[in-house]
Amino acid sequence: DTKDIKVLLLENVNETGQTILREQGYQVEAIKSSLPEEQLIERIKDVHVIGIRSKTKLTAKVLNSAKNLLVIGCFCIGTNQVDLKTAASLGIAVFNSPFSNSRSVAELTIAEIIGLARQITDRSAELHAGIWNKVSAGCWEVRGKTLGIVGYGHIGSQLSVLAEQMGMQVIYYDVVPLMALSTSKQIKDLETLLSKSDFVTLHVPETADTNNLISTAQFAQMRSGSYLINNSRGSVVDIPALIEAMRSGKLAGAALDVYPNEPGGNGDYFNGSLNNFTDDLRSLKNLILTPHIGGSTEEAQSAIGVEVAQFLVRYVNEGTTQGSVNLPEVTLRSLTIDEPNHARVIYVHKNVPGVLRQVNNVLADHNIDKQMTDSRGEIAYLMADISNVKPDELKELQHNLTASSAHIRTRILY
Ligand code: NAD
Repeated sequence: DTKDIKVLLLENVNETGQTILREQGYQVEAIKSSLPEEQLIERIKDVHVIGIRSKTKLTAKVLNSAKNLLVIGCFCIGTNQVDLKTAASLGIAVFNSPFSNSRSVAELTIAEIIGLARQITDRSAELHAGIWNKVSAGCWEVRGKTLGIVGYGHIGSQLSVLAEQMGMQVIYYDVVPLMALSTSKQIKDLETLLSKSDFVTLHVPETADTNNLISTAQFAQMRSGSYLINNSRGSVVDIPALIEAMRSGKLAGAALDVYPNEPGGNGDYFNGSLNNFTDDLRSLKNLILTPHIGGSTEEAQSAIGVEVAQFLVRYVNEGTTQGSVNLPEVTLRSLTIDEPNHARVIYVHKNVPGVLRQVNNVLADHNIDKQMTDSRGEIAYLMADISNVKPDELKELQHNLTASSAHIRTRILY
């Protein structure tokens, strides 16, 4: 019953998220701060759902004491504060909020496109220093210019639409074929995109393939006097190569929001002790430097609350793992457990041979209406909607499923 679900929210989780969980009838306790390990171990013992942000460390020790815990919601983007592997091995799903700030990043990128074209930050810095420097040479309108988007996902595709509204021509490169929005065009290879773009903006994930995706060879392929924007991840651009391209005048400007090494908190940390190229970056003209603020807006914060809370509700009420960062992503269409004699079986198990046969032997006494299973590394997740199951048979069903040595966790929704 949803009224039995105990939720502990730490670190002042956004009000929008708290409301969604309370509306489900869950017992929600919200604390403003994070908790030290010993207190956390005590408090997490009987909760089914925990919501955290970046400061709460959910270590293996904490997770092993969380006997009832079903799911963890990270009300933020990062998940490295959670021992994801241990969570998966205990059948605990982890969710975060990767896409709630897409629009914010796209809008920052628009601001930077115009900012670079008009050298706004240089003019502003000069005037702050008392210098009136009215120039038009090397300053441009963005209308009619070509924007090359690398990575046409949540952010890249939003940006595509916004840029076209300003009269830009949009081309994009992605590793998968994606439908073009409006009149934008997908380009088959990165080199061609670089050679055709006045502005290149990066919106790819951090992977082995995107490490130094833009380096000396790619700067050489770009147009003279073009601009580069990186609001994705610091590993995607080879910074010394960028500095070289800026110094040689190949690039007319660049904007960076992310860096290979970023300070853990606010303060005067952006200097030589952080990275050996930081001082070079600070000395360059028409280089917009921002401290990883792409997704930092009030709207994105409240959207995080909604996105994560919805993941949690779907997982608790329906068993859907879609969007999980550590379990296989499994979902079944419409839930039928409101109908008489229907149940949904959720079975998290070790990914070893023969398990499905065992499970289906157990389920065989009932009608299996729908079934879905997937694996991720050592863990597999099965969902089955069964009918023709009477309330007094549930205990035995649970018992039989739990008997397998591959079993990690079983939930039956009825
Ligand atoms: P997404 O997953 O929706 O889209 C990424 C796209 O990149 C996908 O279409 C994928 O196919 C494509 N891609 C993957 N590898 C590629 C490659 N080697 N070459 C070309 N395309 C490739 O992600 P998103 O939400 O649009 O986010 C993009 C990036 O922005 C992520 O790295 C994310 O971490 C970063 N981000 C930064 C901020 C910030 O504050 N600056 C905020 C949010 C997200």
